[in-house]
Amino acid sequence: MQFQTILDEINTEIRPLLGTGGAVATYIPALARVSPLQFGIALRTFGGQEAAAGDSATPFSIQSMSKVFSLTLAMRSLGETLWQRIGREPSGSPFNSLVQLETERGIPRNPFINAGAIAVADRLLSQGDAKTNLLALLSDLCGEAIHIDAEVAHSEADTGFRNAALANFMKAFGTLDNNTAQVLDVYFNQCAISMNCVQVARAAGYLCRDGAPPYAGPRVITEAQTRRVNALMLTCGTYDAAGEFAFRIGLPCKSGVGGGIVAVVPDTLTLCVWSPALDATGNSHLGRIALELFVTKTGLSVF
Ligand code: GLN
Repeated sequence: MQFQTILDEINTEIRPLLGTGGAVATYIPALARVSPLQFGIALRTFGGQEAAAGDSATPFSIQSMSKVFSLTLAMRSLGETLWQRIGREPSGSPFNSLVQLETERGIPRNPFINAGAIAVADRLLSQGDAKTNLLALLSDLCGEAIHIDAEVAHSEADTGFRNAALANFMKAFGTLDNNTAQVLDVYFNQCAISMNCVQVARAAGYLCRDGAPPYAGPRVITEAQTRRVNALMLTCGTYDAAGEFAFRIGLPCKSGVGGGIVAVVPDTLTLCVWSPALDATGNSHLGRIALELFVTKTGLSVF
């Protein structure tokens, strides 16, 4: 398939739509300053062919897309015990909702809502230097050094009152072992990791390769674990829009409030789209439209 031609076509179709819908996240001040008039798309195939278009080399805040990689690390080191404290069901609620946590006694519905990712961060902290281990994983996966944007991390820490509430709630229920300030520091820093579309498409490569890394090296996670990460992305990766994403796109996806969405076509390719303006569910407005265009043009979907 002529992937470069397809991505160029999508870029041409999306450009006129820039600025026509959605809004950048404003609850994190550093993200509010990002221009919404940007769009990038990149993919990497199972065999290593790459294609990219638009602002695919511009770094952005990966935000909740980091939750895929922190979950990967936690599954690798903890195996089944991870699921003693974290569920695997879609939440049907916004990503930062507190309500379910009270009724479900501090056990987050899944690892991709904020509460779940904070619980994963706690588990990683108990294993060692979580920030360093996550950056090392991402740098290994995409073959170049990956960094945290300190300004975004500080901005999140200054305004992350809901996340602090989620962490304190879980601490009260015994879901977290570590000091909440340290757990939140891991969480805010992982969200503040900066990458571009090409790097994300590479780093996620193991998700379309049954857990084998995009470049040479040891397996990232097992084939069965990879299936599970993809299943969770499909059912929970875009929060309360997961049904709509499955209906329109039909691919495991994980979004972030920086405007990125990473998608997986199992056994075929990984794809990253980015455009900062978000819809009401916190997912990239044009990113979703670009993914729909991609699936329509290629017929690549798990359904
Ligand atoms: N850092 C963001 C938050 O905690 C991540 C949310 C997201 O990307 N959906 O609110």
